[in-house]
Amino acid sequence: MEALIKVRGVRKVYPHRSTGRDLVALKGIDLDIAPNEFVCLLGPSGCGKTTLLKIMDGMIKPEAGTVTVGGKPILEALGDIGFVFQDVGLLAWRTVVSNVGLGLEARGLPKEEREKLAAEYLKLVGLESFATYHPYQLSGGMQQRVGLARALAIKPKVLLMDEPFGAVDAMTRRGLQIELARIWEQNRVTVVFVTHDVDEALFLADRIVVMNMADVVKSVSVTLPRPRWTTDARTNPQYVALRTDLIGILESSGAVAGGTI
Ligand code: ADP
Ligand code: MG
Repeated sequence: MEALIKVRGVRKVYPHRSTGRDLVALKGIDLDIAPNEFVCLLGPSGCGKTTLLKIMDGMIKPEAGTVTVGGKPILEALGDIGFVFQDVGLLAWRTVVSNVGLGLEARGLPKEEREKLAAEYLKLVGLESFATYHPYQLSGGMQQRVGLARALAIKPKVLLMDEPFGAVDAMTRRGLQIELARIWEQNRVTVVFVTHDVDEALFLADRIVVMNMADVVKSVSVTLPRPRWTTDARTNPQYVALRTDLIGILESSGAVAGGTI
């Protein structure tokens, strides 16, 4: 199947903050992502995951290389892309439902249609009874779900997620992972999800792209059956073998690993 997202020779260099010398954040990345594939970018802090994601959403420009979505250069494809980041970025003065409708508003949808769609997506993330609340009245996990509803409401072809559950406690995080897996299994979109957590990647991904030191180290297919939220999923021998492999890949590439890296 032809890739939906094609990353070709993407190189990014930042001036080093203290020395001013070049810091290579991405060495020249090639990556193909199939339609409706769930890909996790896994690697230690500082290996270039966020930089790659920001290039994929057109926020920063690479020194060399290209990203296309459905054959279009990234800046022309932005209407097909939804984002969810660790900092959800909800507008404090707006209600939950009107935050969910933000992307629709930017697309010029009339108010009535916007609210109807926003309510549907709030229901999808289980927050229909919080529509008239303001963000400060929600927990961190609930705010992330609002962010997810907002991203999905524009019906994106591609959803880019940068450690979206990194700032919530472990139990909430597990709940959010299950919620995301459930929603994705019902409404497939192409997802690129950044994480430094091996178990999170194994729980969510069809394929894990391991990164270290500004480069892709390896791409690992995850053929574990879905759904993966049963309590024994982590003791499945295939799961244990994949996890051992991934940690081995991370260690041999020089990244320190021990479950969460
Ligand atoms: P990750 O998301 O994997 O933790 P990043 O993509 O954020 O990694 O960063 C990759 C490298 O680029 C790091 O060494 C980081 O310090 C550096 N970097 C990221 N953003 C900037 C910036 N705006 N200016 C200078 N250096 C940056
Ligand atoms: Mg990052």
